[in-house]
Amino acid sequence: MAEHQVNYANGLPVILTSVDKLVQWGRSNSLWALSYGLACCAIEMMAAGGARYDFDRFGTIFRASPRHSEVMIIAGTLCKKHAEFTRRLYDQMPDPKWVISMGSCANTGGMFNTYSVVQGVDRIIPVDIYVPGCAPRPESFQFALMILQKKIRKEKASRKQAIKRLI
Ligand code: SF4
Repeated sequence: MAEHQVNYANGLPVILTSVDKLVQWGRSNSLWALSYGLACCAIEMMAAGGARYDFDRFGTIFRASPRHSEVMIIAGTLCKKHAEFTRRLYDQMPDPKWVISMGSCANTGGMFNTYSVVQGVDRIIPVDIYVPGCAPRPESFQFALMILQKKIRKEKASRKQAIKRLI
């Protein structure tokens, strides 16, 4: 068996980073998600949490309570009757928090251009990442999560989250 020798002749290795980077790195790798499956897109979201795609390895664990969660994943068609509850759940999530809108229905109302459907969840809550598709596959959703992780790592941990704009 090959042996690997570490040469400490020049001193011990030191890693330098800022507290900000460390906190945001931790945050981005432990995103607990409020699963908010509203229609068929939710099936793809559930598949993402299953054994094949295994979201747990990203530190993303699905929760059923807004008070445990940092990311709200809206997967499906949001009806106007239900919009008030969506906003209430978002408000109950602790700061900092992020939102992923999954699928055409959540993004824009999709094919349901009717009186009863919200034409984009960004009219109710601020969205950080939009995942296109009807329905988006778990890979797309996984990619969106990785983009969100990158975005979080670029933010400053010490800074209060700016109020996001609604459409
Ligand atoms: S985008 Fe397509 S798959 Fe997703 S909820 Fe709407 S109709 Fe269903």
